[in-house]
Amino acid sequence: MVVYSRELPTIGPFDVLVCGGGPAGIAAAVTAAENGAKVALIEQNSYLGGMATGGCVNPMSEFSYKGERVIGGFAWRFAQELIKVNGAIFEAPRGNLSFNPETYKLVAQRLVNQAKIHLFTNTFIADCIFDSDMLHQIIVANKNGLQAISGHYVIDTTGDADVAYHAGVPMLPNTRPAQPGTLIFSLANVDTTTPRMHIIHQKNNHMHHSAGFIRELFEKLRGEGIDVPQFGGPWFCSTVDDGCITVNMSRAAMDSVDVADSQRATAELRENVFRFVSLLKEHVPEFKHCVISSIAPMTGVRQSRRIKGKHVLTGKEYLEATRFTDAIARACHPVDIHLPSGDGQILHYPEIAAYIPFRSLQPEGISNLLVAGRPISADEDAFAAVRVQATCMETGEAAGLAAALCVQKDNIPLDSLDIVEVVRRIREGGTLC
Ligand SMILES: Cc1cc2nc3c(=O)[nH]c(=O)nc-3n(C[C@H](O)[C@H](O)[C@H](O)COP(=O)(O)OP(=O)(O)OC[C@H]3O[C@@H](n4cnc5c(N)ncnc54)[C@H](O)[C@@H]3O)c2cc1C
Repeated sequence: MVVYSRELPTIGPFDVLVCGGGPAGIAAAVTAAENGAKVALIEQNSYLGGMATGGCVNPMSEFSYKGERVIGGFAWRFAQELIKVNGAIFEAPRGNLSFNPETYKLVAQRLVNQAKIHLFTNTFIADCIFDSDMLHQIIVANKNGLQAISGHYVIDTTGDADVAYHAGVPMLPNTRPAQPGTLIFSLANVDTTTPRMHIIHQKNNHMHHSAGFIRELFEKLRGEGIDVPQFGGPWFCSTVDDGCITVNMSRAAMDSVDVADSQRATAELRENVFRFVSLLKEHVPEFKHCVISSIAPMTGVRQSRRIKGKHVLTGKEYLEATRFTDAIARACHPVDIHLPSGDGQILHYPEIAAYIPFRSLQPEGISNLLVAGRPISADEDAFAAVRVQATCMETGEAAGLAAALCVQKDNIPLDSLDIVEVVRRIREGGTLC
């Protein structure tokens, strides 16, 4: 143990500090800024998008339930911006959006810049300063050294609830092993013109399908004693018919907030990506000439921390689409559990599109903190559904809007905000909550 102490330069105060520039953080920051708040957005990467870009996770799921689009607001606007610059294709009726991650980075950066957000990239959130129930400063590290950034309201969109964790917010326990991590990779020179590839690749429809024939082949190869690593799907995704596909296939159990275990799993996943590609080249004619064009810079993390909030959304509430007076989001994705051992996946579909209450964004303990995106307060089953990107954008939008409305009311405590106003504004944005 060592005790370290020094004076740090301080930056701010900002009205709203958004911590993490993934889908939830982009939505939170832009919404807060467009509602008049002075906003800073802190991101460890040099680009925005989180798992959507750094993790190459595609598509953005999902806007519609049984053909009806229930999600509007910032997520739908973002989708439209991507489509406008030929960076995405919308797949009806499920409502997934297949996108080009590089275009995603560009669109996100434009929206953030247009909203005049103070963006800190290459800036890692390492700690925070808080007292009994208030967060005062976020401690960051970047090329300028250590700094303290202050804000009246803080929105944790790190995906891992890093800020909440550093502030001592209680986390929900995992009652079963966490969902596995995945290193997504992209291939070029794939022959996507054959009928079986065309089905999973055809333009304007079915952009994101599990390639069952490859699963069958891999299971057969295993039966013959050939080494096939643990895999999921595989799911292919693409936006243009040019022989390039993104592959979601590798799978390893990992504790992503344990540095050593995350490193171990990432090394294993990288080995397995090369093994999968060599198997595909050898056994599947469409892949004979394929090359790895990229491997996601960030390991895909499905599950890490989940906060204990004012309400813990349960899988039962999710699947029964329980209505809440403070519902700020709808969600269409099934409870989607990828098994950390083996190649399986468990899916449960909601009766109708589910509702997420604002209280699931409010952590216990810290009154000026909201948590949006993947780590909201949900049990493991509900989590397995709300973790998808369109839903993360919705909770980000609600958090950004709530914080900005508090700023407009002379920095009232979040608890004093009339959530009916947030709900009304979200509805006006086109989300059917
Ligand atoms: C393999 C895989 C497949 C998936 N498939 C789908 C799918 O098909 N459809 C779908 O919609 N979703 C899918 N998901 C889920 C989805 O991509 C994520 O849950 C979602 O991106 C989470 O959004 P977020 O904004 O909460 O967090 P993230 O996307 O994780 O963004 C968090 C941001 O915070 C930054 N950050 C984190 N910690 C710090 C720190 N300490 N300091 C500074 N910055 C920090 C990160 O760099 C990142 O930019 C999948 C996920 C995985 C891993």
